[in-house]
Amino acid sequence: MDLLSTLTDKGLRGEVPTREEALAVLATTDDELLDVVAAAGKVRRRWFGRRVKLNYLVNLKSGLCPEDCSYCSQRLGSKAEILKYTWLKPDQAAEAAKAGVAGGAKRVCLVASGRGPTDRDIDRVTDTMAAIREADPAVELCVCLGLLSDNQAERLKAAGADAYNHNLNTSEATYGDITTTHTYADRVDTVQKAHGAGLSACSGLIAGMGESDEDLVDVVFALRELGSDSVPVNFLIPFEGTPLAQEWHLSPQRCLRILAMVRFVNPDTEVRIAGGRELHLRTMQPLGLHIANSIFLGDYLTSEGQAGHADLDMIRDAGFEVEGAGEATLPRHRSDVAAASTSGCGSAASACGSGGGCGPCGGHASPDDASSESHSDQVKVRRRGAGTELAPNA
Ligand code: SF4
Repeated sequence: MDLLSTLTDKGLRGEVPTREEALAVLATTDDELLDVVAAAGKVRRRWFGRRVKLNYLVNLKSGLCPEDCSYCSQRLGSKAEILKYTWLKPDQAAEAAKAGVAGGAKRVCLVASGRGPTDRDIDRVTDTMAAIREADPAVELCVCLGLLSDNQAERLKAAGADAYNHNLNTSEATYGDITTTHTYADRVDTVQKAHGAGLSACSGLIAGMGESDEDLVDVVFALRELGSDSVPVNFLIPFEGTPLAQEWHLSPQRCLRILAMVRFVNPDTEVRIAGGRELHLRTMQPLGLHIANSIFLGDYLTSEGQAGHADLDMIRDAGFEVEGAGEATLPRHRSDVAAASTSGCGSAASACGSGGGCGPCGGHASPDDASSESHSDQVKVRRRGAGTELAPNA
């Protein structure tokens, strides 16, 4: 049986492919691309139909992070000209969340820059979640505050959080090349703490940082083993003023192959196209919907996405439908497991959702590198919504 038939059959049964099969997806040619998308699309429709889950990011605290994640516009020493502000007040966050829900989002993702929350920060987020739920009791809430200390996940769960986002981002082997202020093991520990407290785990990756195919496969299998309910796939946004500003390796075709590989390894898991969707998939975004079952509506944490109405038009034009508040995201056998500990499932953008590239690690160019030429004029820094006087994009 050929590769795609094997992967389709396994995916329809909810089985995980071998590592070699996953690598082979990344090595397919452009001539095979539509066959790859079609095969991944069959698996996607088996478990998620034609539903697209919409998630909405609210950046509660932007910039000035003491950590040094190379891909991140909010990192220590970042010269990126992003919005910088401290904690939004609960009513300000609720106002932004309301716009996202009104635009069709089922889940609101509350994100704050920083190494990890203090206990006072947990109190702030507790108040923020209460303000959001006052306006919309049914909204799913995912929280992303960095590394968790003991009992903080339990406190968030008790305060009503459904999920916690913390991305692994890249393979264990290359993690030290993109960040030195914390380790891959620290990230795994936080995902496990969240899961252990009954929060739905949302954890994903960033592609385009100069990593090899083996790195991508490693991190995707690690996410599967961790039991992430939701896997956000970020495509690096190379912000000027970050170490990875010159890392432009992704083509739309490469992005689609990566999404397909993630889908085959996670057939029955929410796969979300996260930061960098517009920048790297460009006019091929609708093909991505045939593979992933979830996207962010509107803007990202520090960069602007396409207009919210354009997201909705794209979903409709491609023949998909927005997942309703009353519909389960995960298939029954997965949601039963999740419901044993919590409700809902992961959302997430990378901790900072801004993406970058892996300059210092001297990454290995992908076989289908688009170019290493800078296109920084294409990165649109967010200037509206949370932290500004302007209306959010939703
Ligand atoms: S990814 Fe998170 S922890 Fe790392 S620099 Fe950005 S905001 Fe800080």
